[in-house]
Amino acid sequence: MKRVVIAGGGYAGLRAVERLADSEDLEPVLVDANSYHFMQTEVYGYIAGTKEIDEIAIDLDLWCRGFERPVRFVKDSIVGLDPQRRVLVLANGELEYDYLIIATGARTKFPESIKGLRERSFGIKRLGRSFGFHHKFEEVVKRRLEGESGRVNIAVVGAGLSGVEVAAEMGYMLKRYKKVLGARADDIEITLIDACDTILPGMDPFLIGAAADRLKKLGVSLKVSALIESVEESAILFENGDRMEYGFIIFTGGITANSDFTPESFEKNGMGQLIVTPFLNIDGHEEIYAVGDAAQIEDPHGRPLPPTAQIAEKSAEYAAKSIIKSLRGSMQKPFMGRLDGMFIALGGRYAAAEIFGFRFSGVAAYYMKRMVTLIYFLGIDLRANAGYRVRSSGRPADV
Ligand SMILES: Cc1cc2nc3c(=O)[nH]c(=O)nc-3n(C[C@H](O)[C@H](O)[C@H](O)COP(=O)(O)OP(=O)(O)OC[C@H]3O[C@@H](n4cnc5c(N)ncnc54)[C@H](O)[C@@H]3O)c2cc1C
Repeated sequence: MKRVVIAGGGYAGLRAVERLADSEDLEPVLVDANSYHFMQTEVYGYIAGTKEIDEIAIDLDLWCRGFERPVRFVKDSIVGLDPQRRVLVLANGELEYDYLIIATGARTKFPESIKGLRERSFGIKRLGRSFGFHHKFEEVVKRRLEGESGRVNIAVVGAGLSGVEVAAEMGYMLKRYKKVLGARADDIEITLIDACDTILPGMDPFLIGAAADRLKKLGVSLKVSALIESVEESAILFENGDRMEYGFIIFTGGITANSDFTPESFEKNGMGQLIVTPFLNIDGHEEIYAVGDAAQIEDPHGRPLPPTAQIAEKSAEYAAKSIIKSLRGSMQKPFMGRLDGMFIALGGRYAAAEIFGFRFSGVAAYYMKRMVTLIYFLGIDLRANAGYRVRSSGRPADV
């Protein structure tokens, strides 16, 4: 029996476990520092109050118990990797592997050059951070209900996919709150800021246009070509001398891969993503794969693909299949990564989509996005429910 350690229980890690769990010759072991799988793609709804915590997080131990042959889950932080001994070093011990899939994703990167940004803003790539921001947003609304007046500016810094989705959902919620807050809702402003000259830099022009129109309708102000110099206690200072007062800041402007535990000999790009071969291996280590946001994944033309859940799942599926094939002595073709399309949630029942060359926005796009999300969520929720039944029956998980 060969042991496959899957490092990270995000979109990539879960997909890898799903594909490996049925193989009789393999013992998959999932490791994560957290006890839950965090659905970052849905966090915009949680922050704005349209989604509950159980719609964005699933217990990993229960999920692992939900397989026919329960999968072992280790809750621990990965702090090192010794490829010579084939050992993953954890904060509380070591874990040997025959194959390793690195799927540790990425975290928010606060640029050091912007003084005060890290201390004074919220990231949203961690549940704890999103939780904090969710409550901040609710607090603003509650205070208004209690009669507080005066302007509050919520600054969303970074107008990529996550920044746009968060700003749009908050804008939508403020429109709804208008019914109870009246004119006091108008004093809550949302400003989406980016250093580039457009929102959604690099994306399809249709998506950019649809998002800009919708944000405008929702009352979200756009501030592009705006380079932040520093963040003071109550104001953002821009390089061109502008100054903007803020109530609080959410930062979605950059990420860095969680690859610090890997040896220096493993090559990385400027975002800390591991450089992989066309077979998604670390060069010289056919037993180690790196997938999802933790790796620089390229399309067939050698262009890096954007870090998305879609690519995380596809790359993990490929790695899992490669491992199964290598046991049978056959080889996979190189990984052919490509995005099938993109959905952008734009507040309430509205989204924009670019899928297989079709472009559309509105309610239909929203329901399509919702369907994709529901299929994903129901899949892992059903398994976690099965795991709950197993745990209640007292069946051990480490088999
Ligand atoms: C607001 C928002 C909206 C988004 N919307 C979309 C969208 O609409 N479509 C889309 O495709 N993508 C979207 N994305 C991007 C998508 O969420 C990521 O690309 C995806 O999460 C990457 O999956 P992953 O498995 O590589 O990493 P992650 O999902 O980040 O999972 C990594 C896991 O590794 C664990 N881990 C990390 N370091 C360690 C360590 N040292 N020890 C132990 N465990 C560790 C973490 O706890 C985590 O569970 C969005 C992201 C955000 C923030």
